Formats: sequence, C-alpha cells, structure tokens
Amino acid sequence: MEPQVRVPVAPGAAFALPPKLEGLRRLAYNLWWSWHPRARTLFSRIDAGAWARYRNPVPVLQGSVNWSQLLDNAAFMAEYEHLLAEFDAYMANGADHWFSRHHGDQLGGPIAYFCAEYGFHESLGIYSGGLGVLAGDHMKTASDMALPLVGVGLMYRRGFFRQTIDADGHQEHAYPDYELSRLPILRVLDGVGQPLTVTVPLPRRDLAAAVWLAQVGRVPVLLLDTDVPDNDDSDRPITHILYVRGREMRLHQELVLGVGGVRALRILGLDPAVWHLNEGHSAFLLAERARELVAAGTPLDRALDTVRRDSVFTIHTPVSAGNERFDADLVRRVAGPLLDGDGRPGTGGVPVDRVLQLGMGVEGDPGQFDMTAFSLRLTHGANAVSILHGHTANSTWSGVAPSEILGLTNGVHTPTWVGQPMRDALERYTNADLDAMDDQPPAKRFWDRIDQLPTQDLWEAHQRQKLELAIFARGRLRSQFARHGESPAALEELEEVLDPGVLTIGFARRFATYKRASLLFSDQDRLARLLWNEERPVQVVFAGKAHPADRPGQGVIQDIFGKSRSPQLRGRVFILEDYDIRIARFLVQGVDVWLNNPRRPLEASGTSGMKAAANGVLNVSVLDGWWDEGWTGDNGWAIGGRDTNPDEGAQDWADAQDLYRILEDELVPAYYERDAGGLPDRWAQLMRNSIASTIWRFSTTRMLHEYVERLYLPAAAAGSGPIKEPAASGATSG
Ligand SMILES: *Cc1c(COP(=O)(O)O)cnc(C)c1O
Repeated sequence: MEPQVRVPVAPGAAFALPPKLEGLRRLAYNLWWSWHPRARTLFSRIDAGAWARYRNPVPVLQGSVNWSQLLDNAAFMAEYEHLLAEFDAYMANGADHWFSRHHGDQLGGPIAYFCAEYGFHESLGIYSGGLGVLAGDHMKTASDMALPLVGVGLMYRRGFFRQTIDADGHQEHAYPDYELSRLPILRVLDGVGQPLTVTVPLPRRDLAAAVWLAQVGRVPVLLLDTDVPDNDDSDRPITHILYVRGREMRLHQELVLGVGGVRALRILGLDPAVWHLNEGHSAFLLAERARELVAAGTPLDRALDTVRRDSVFTIHTPVSAGNERFDADLVRRVAGPLLDGDGRPGTGGVPVDRVLQLGMGVEGDPGQFDMTAFSLRLTHGANAVSILHGHTANSTWSGVAPSEILGLTNGVHTPTWVGQPMRDALERYTNADLDAMDDQPPAKRFWDRIDQLPTQDLWEAHQRQKLELAIFARGRLRSQFARHGESPAALEELEEVLDPGVLTIGFARRFATYKRASLLFSDQDRLARLLWNEERPVQVVFAGKAHPADRPGQGVIQDIFGKSRSPQLRGRVFILEDYDIRIARFLVQGVDVWLNNPRRPLEASGTSGMKAAANGVLNVSVLDGWWDEGWTGDNGWAIGGRDTNPDEGAQDWADAQDLYRILEDELVPAYYERDAGGLPDRWAQLMRNSIASTIWRFSTTRMLHEYVERLYLPAAAAGSGPIKEPAASGATSG
C-alpha cells in the first residue's frame, strides 16, 4: 500500500510568483505549515500585515509583495530553501515509518475517515470544538506516520459562529463569509480533469456538491460544498453552517456528508479497506454503501453484512442529548427515495424501514432515528474515547452494540500544541524529536529522560510562554472593552493585567452546564480571599463559546462576565471572547494550572488538559474522561473521588469544597515555594512529572497506534475475508 493517497486538484486562484520562489505555492497549499512554526514565520516575513490579518499564507502570496527585496535577502532565501527541502523530503518519505515497516502490506486500500468537522488551524473555520480538533490532530498524525488515509468532511462557507460578548455579558453570534479563493484549499478534479461534482438524489431533484481538497501533509481531506450554481438557491446553503440548528437542514447536511462522501471517493477511484465514522453524523455512508451493493445485485442482508465488516465507529459523548437523532418521519420523507431506490434501473434499494429499524435507539422509540445506534449496529468495531467512557458507553448501549465498545483514549498532536520555547528546552535536554514520536525505540524513550531538563531552563521556557499569553490577552481585552465604550483610563489599566509573576489558572471549553464553569464561584468571598492574597495572588482566565441554541450555557457566560466586572473580582478574573484554536494554543501553553470540573461521568475524554500537560501545565480536574486514567498522584490534582452523589446539588457543593481545599492547602503553597536560588523547585518537579506521564500516553501518535492495531487492521482483515452467510444480520434488534 502506497503510504500516500493522491487526489488531483486544479491550480488555485492565479497569482504570479518569481520563478525562484515558486515553491511557496507548494508550501501554502499544504497545511503542513499549520504544525511547523518556522514555515508560518517565513510567510509572516513576506508580509507581516497580511499574515496578521489572515493568518494563512494564500492571501499573503496573493497580495502586493516586494519580491525583489526578498530575492535579495540572503537570510530569507536560505530559510526558504531549507524549509522547502524539509517539506519535500517529508512528502517523499514514508516507507521507513512504523506503520509501513510493521503493517504496510496488511491494508488492501486506504482508510476513509469521515467527520462533520475538522480543526486544523484557526484560519480554516470548519470546526467548532473538541471533536474537530481531534479529527484535525488525527489527520496530522496520520500524515506524520505515513498512514494511507483520506478524510471526508464538509466545506462550511459560513463556518461556526464567531463569538463576541457585549457589555451586559450576552453572547453575540456573527457568521463569517469565507472567500474560498483565499483559503488553503483547492478544487478536486475528476478522472477527465474537470472540477469534481457529486450528486445526492433528494426528493424531486439531484443535489450537487463541489469537492474541495485540504491537503494535510501527506493526507488529503475532501470537503463537500453545496453552494454551487447548479443548485436551487434554497439548496445552496445546505453546507453553509456547521451544526446548523434546523433539524431538516441538518439532515440534509448529513446526507451530503455520508452519501456524497462515498460518491466522491468512488469517482476518484479510491477503494477504502476501512471506513471510519468519527461520530454518527456521517452514518448515512453505511446506508449508501449497502445501496450500492444491492444495486450491483447483492441480496440486502448480505450487503448489510458486507458493509458491517470493514466499518469502524467512534462514539464521542456519554450525554444522551449529544447523540444525533432525527424524527423517523423526516428521514422517511427526505432520505426515503434515495434509500429505497427511485425505480430507475441500477439505483438499488435499501428499504427505508429497514434503515429506521437499524437506527432504533435504546429507548426503543420507533419514532426516532438514532444515528449512534445505527452506526453501532452496522460497524465491525467501535470505540469510546477514554477507558472510563468505555465503561459508560457499554452500559448505555449494551442492547445495541453487537460487541464490546473499546476504551481507546484520545490524544493530541504534540507538535501542534507544545509551545516553541518548551519544545526547544525539551528536545535539547532529552535528545527528542517531537516530529518523530512514532519511531521512538522503547529503550530510548525521551520522556524517561525529562528529569534531565534543569529547573532553570524549564522555568524560563514556561515563563516565556506565559508572557506571550499575557501580551496576547491584553490586546484582546483592550479591543473588547474599547467596543464596550470603556474609558481610556480603564483601557490603560489593561496594560498591567495578567502579570506573569502571578499564579494563573486557565479554564477554556464549551460552555455547557454540565462542565460547571461557575463551580469556582460557589463561595465568592472565599474565592476573593484566595485571588487577592498579597503574598500569593491568583488570577483566572476563562474562554469558551456556548452553542447558539444553548440558553443556559449562555447564562453561564453572562454570569462569569458579570463576576469579572464586579468590584470584588475585577482585575483577577478575565473572560476572553471567541475561543478558537489560536486562543487554545496561547492558553494551554501559557497558564500554570488547567482547571476542569465537569459533573462526572459526563465528560467523555477532554483533550485540552492533555495539551496543557504536555506543556508542563498542571491539571486540577475531576476524575472524569482522560484524567481518570491520566492522574498518577504526583502530576497534578484530582478534585473529589470516584463516587458520584445522585443529588447534583450535594455533589456540586462537595466538589467545590474540595477544589478550594486543594487550591488553599496544596496548590498555591507549592507554586510559591522557592528554593535558595529563587526557583520553584517543587513546582518544576510536578511540571516534569506532568510532561513525562502524558506526552506519549496522551498523544495522537499512541492513539493512532491503537486505532491501527485494535480497529483498522481487524476491520480490514474482516473485510477481505470470506463472507459469512447472514447469521450476522441477527445483530439487528428487529
Ligand atoms: C482542544 C480544544 C477543544 C477540546 O478541549 P476540551 O478539553 O474537550 O474542552 C475545544 N476547542 C478548542 C479550540 C480546542 O483547541
């Protein structure tokens, strides 16, 4: 199996480059730059203003650039040639990696990975949060590991909303309108060199979707877009908005993702050995594949069995409302003709009633089509995203899942998330290369050598990242409060906030009520005493969006915003607007402590804490999601225990008490303790423990090793093996 799946693309929008710098085009249209900071620096040296405005290289190159000056700049040219050589070598190699060496001949085709959102970089706004960032990290790591994989998603021209918070603390929503010719994506071509369009049959019309490519290192990601002139004006917005609110619109989106995605792969001649559904949004791909087989003459039960054998599914939420469900009547009306076959020869037919039966949820309500249940019944293997989530998922879905749901814990793409100062220090003292974690021989694991990183260097790297956060956050707060009409004096005050000498706690996540962002404020006087302590002060930075439909979540934002402006807490509590990948990077690299206090066991995994831990930031967290297995006793703190009180109010109160106790008695004293040389020796040891215990275990490299060995290879083997006659269809509940 070739380590790289290739997809033909049209040239991008026309812009001229000097022949000697033509390689910049290659660099710009590959998101490799999103995890190689030196490549980003190179583009910012071409035009710092354009880079700051767009944060992506395409508009930088399209602008008016003084090329002759750059061609005469020997340092710039040397850096350009160095980076281009590094990039070309990266793209050309692959056969010498772990996957190729051990499993290269065990897959008969690529892995097709379907997800509704991807978070690669802040400039490509087709993600909302954790699921998308995980998918983005999965693609980057698959590229680093030279795994033959192709991603499929949607190109949301209006993305997810951008958040502002008004002077009363209300969340305001604005939808961007992306100019696609300025994004690092290119139009995919079909077999005869024409722009590729797929069609999805809907009642009374064929919906068209254009296919774009985001090239992520070696991994192509196909993005479908219905905003094309062939479609009715009322159909063009189908893929505009991520997690669009209207149920019927959402169903249309998910048909485009699942059905259109399969058709795009087919036209490109790709024949996946494994189909991975990351979350149930793409579940219609299973129905479409069964329909194809029936159209080719396979009996229905056998077609369903065939589809089941080489498909795998990742479930992402223990929260029942987080699972995608549609009214059965809506599915019947919108997807019925497509699934049943429309009577034309060769269109196949998977009776919609059979599909609905396979999608009956755990409540057994025939009026609802549950995408999670449907996915579980039609896949060969499934996983939850932490060990603890595996336990809850198996008890929730025991009547539905045909086999045990594995606990396969999430990770993060280390080169994306570890800050440059910390990375330099780590690599220098442990002789590590974070870009090549995949090939660390076990005997030489660099994380076992982290004790060799001296406190002085560790602390300096951390403090630099902390200063970068402070400078960034002051700028963001200044524009926020200028918009609110604060006085020049009040704006000037902001120059002094977030002193890097003060212990800083970060809390950034989606504002959903189960995450209990307000827990820290349970006893406000006690909190104020902690924050304003003269010798040992503490400050807290919040960030996060609430879904536009989540009024209670928006209420939490308003509550915290109000507290941050109250006389008692103002100057010690901050909330940053428009949480995105960029803010996440600053926060997980630049705070001292990462706070996470959801109601156990509702957080499936969480990944922001892993990003923080890899930077030497200490987690203080409820034993939920990844922290239930990540906490070692000396790499951070556990809030509460493993027993849950069914009385939510009582549990909240107990957790808040424990959080205050940890902060007052353990964490704050440990942070401010200094040795004779003025260094925080004890804290630095905790930081080293945090890095050493997480940097491999909660990396996407470790995660992908597990996906390959526990899910992808078994599914590929089952898919290519002899077909059992359909006893396996007994796995349906009907
Ligand atoms: C990592 C990340 C998340 C997910 O973090 P959680 O711990 O699940 O909250 C969400 N949003 C952004 C922008 C991220 O970078």
